[in-house]
Amino acid sequence: MGAQLFEPVRVRETVLANRLVHVATLTQLGRDGLPTAAQAAYLRRRAAGGVGCIVTEGVSVHSSSRPHPGVVQAYRPEAFAGLRAWPQAAAGVPVLLQLWHVGRQQLWGPREAPWGVSPEPDALSGSVPHVMTDAEIEAVLEAFAAAARQAEAAGFAGVELHGAHGYLLTQFLSPWSNTRTDRWGGDAERRRAFVLELARRVRRATGPRFIVGIKLSGHEFVPGGLTERDAADLVAALAAEGLVDLVGVSQGNFSLSLERHVPDLHFPEAPFAYLARTVREAAAGVPVIAMGRIMSRATAERLVAEGWADLVGLSRALLADPDLPRKWRGIDGEPVRPCLACNVCWGRIHQGRPVACVHNPELGEEERWTPPAPIPRRAAVVVAGAGPAGLEAAWVLARRGFRVTVYEAAGEPGGQAARLRRLAGLERFGELVDYQLAQCARYGVAFRLGTPLTPEDPVEADAVVVATGSVPVRPTIPGWRGPVRVPDEVPDLAPAPPAGATAVVVDEDGGYYAYGPAEHLLARGWAVVLVTSRTALGARLDYLSRIGLERRLRTHDVPVWTGWRVVGGGDRVLLLEDVFTGRRRAIEDVALVVWAGARRAVDDLWRTGREAWFRRWAPIGDAFAPRDLLAAVHEGHRLAREIR
Ligand code: ADP
Repeated sequence: MGAQLFEPVRVRETVLANRLVHVATLTQLGRDGLPTAAQAAYLRRRAAGGVGCIVTEGVSVHSSSRPHPGVVQAYRPEAFAGLRAWPQAAAGVPVLLQLWHVGRQQLWGPREAPWGVSPEPDALSGSVPHVMTDAEIEAVLEAFAAAARQAEAAGFAGVELHGAHGYLLTQFLSPWSNTRTDRWGGDAERRRAFVLELARRVRRATGPRFIVGIKLSGHEFVPGGLTERDAADLVAALAAEGLVDLVGVSQGNFSLSLERHVPDLHFPEAPFAYLARTVREAAAGVPVIAMGRIMSRATAERLVAEGWADLVGLSRALLADPDLPRKWRGIDGEPVRPCLACNVCWGRIHQGRPVACVHNPELGEEERWTPPAPIPRRAAVVVAGAGPAGLEAAWVLARRGFRVTVYEAAGEPGGQAARLRRLAGLERFGELVDYQLAQCARYGVAFRLGTPLTPEDPVEADAVVVATGSVPVRPTIPGWRGPVRVPDEVPDLAPAPPAGATAVVVDEDGGYYAYGPAEHLLARGWAVVLVTSRTALGARLDYLSRIGLERRLRTHDVPVWTGWRVVGGGDRVLLLEDVFTGRRRAIEDVALVVWAGARRAVDDLWRTGREAWFRRWAPIGDAFAPRDLLAAVHEGHRLAREIR
């Protein structure tokens, strides 16, 4: 009989209340290399949600590691004054400070100070690092030890050494990045020498109760790179000397294997937990954390019950809903706000912008956040449109005490999210709607489905929220005689005709609005050609998800024409023009054109409806200006808090 998820677990001398761990997640809430109250508030909120242990976002241990000004530079004398607030904020939940050196993988400023192990270029930026000397290696070892010592003095329960994802420690460990022939490289043992020495120094620098954890890529997924065997061997060596107390197992690095690092909505749940299991077999009782797209209670319970891991690591699931541990335990009666694995959070962080979640408007705002205030009198509000914006406004208003009625023109609620969920591969976007509808039901929102609200309707309400969304623009293609469909119509199209004709998907979107239909058609047997006037695909996807898109399109041999626009057509022929040269080409045997382009706001209620009701509040979401799910949900939430 394996362990239970909500059973305490001992890590060194510290007892964690349960086996759910908040794994290190950058917030980009630091400022000028120093910690902020916003970061402490973020941690306070995660601790309050009932997680058993928190590993903080990574902090830089040495001036040669300068990931981004939003990342805390723990080597600066003033940094720990602010870092003290982090364990305090967690109010009793043990907090491990993640110690980080990026090495050659300087992500945001690749040419600033790329120290590295060997002269091979960084896979992401292409910058060639300065090869560290013995003295520089010594300085970094000491910097880690000094940071750990200060972390202990500042009240942290421990540290986690960031040995995963292609950063400095991985660079030492991996034959893919370490081509040294001195004592730090050559064979597996010498490639491990840096990490072993590092763990010894950190152990020596800290007291007997202090937890030393390490995070490792269980597999790098690059040719000749690290595998779970290497991770297992390293953990066995660390455990033999008693150097680590906790091991986190993730995967990938910042090469194309980055796709696997934060598995997006195209992956199944817990796709890489098998790596943790292999490492655990070698860990000699040192607790192991499995992580990577673990989203459901059933999966988390199975992982610990069946001995895949001792603990379960969550990141995105806790960004979307910090109260997830309490809700899984049934302490909090509300449904879990599920992570969609859309990776908007990751994309923002890696653009250097503060973390945000499509449907958790509180994320990143914890410092200023207050729960929506109840209203003194029971006023009525009508919401026009049951897309993500309208539904969000509806449930938050109802929770505040308003009597809310939602009018929806279509027969089903959900708007753009309901349309996305019908596309093969994007089903998960529907969980956004499911959550909002569950909240609407809980707080008693009334629905009039199949009932459009018109500007002439006499509305019996104190206010109308206009959340009527947007409609796609259907272009006319001169000379083209076949059908032109917009993305919303694609789920209703028949499978490919037996002749195997081609569908051309015109991508003027750069996001799932174009790729969802393209992949849906592929799954229905169509031959697909992608055409975009942009110079690259996926401008609106995060870099990580773009890798997956490329891989899937290539798996299906989809021809991609970047830098071309559609200018005309004929019988089963589409005519394209090179946006730079004006050169023309034709695509033959075309049976269908899907156009993912501009959308227009549906705002006639607001523009022409009676002032007192319809124009009191500006439209929200796409009805204001067509944008993405995040804008829709956040605006719905914001307006619902403002109305009084
Ligand atoms: P958003 O993302 O901003 O929520 P969506 O396009 O997803 O916008 O959703 C808008 C919803 O509003 C759609 O489901 C649409 O059917 C509905 N709608 C549009 N016009 C009206 C109207 N006059 N009355 C009620 N519902 C409407």
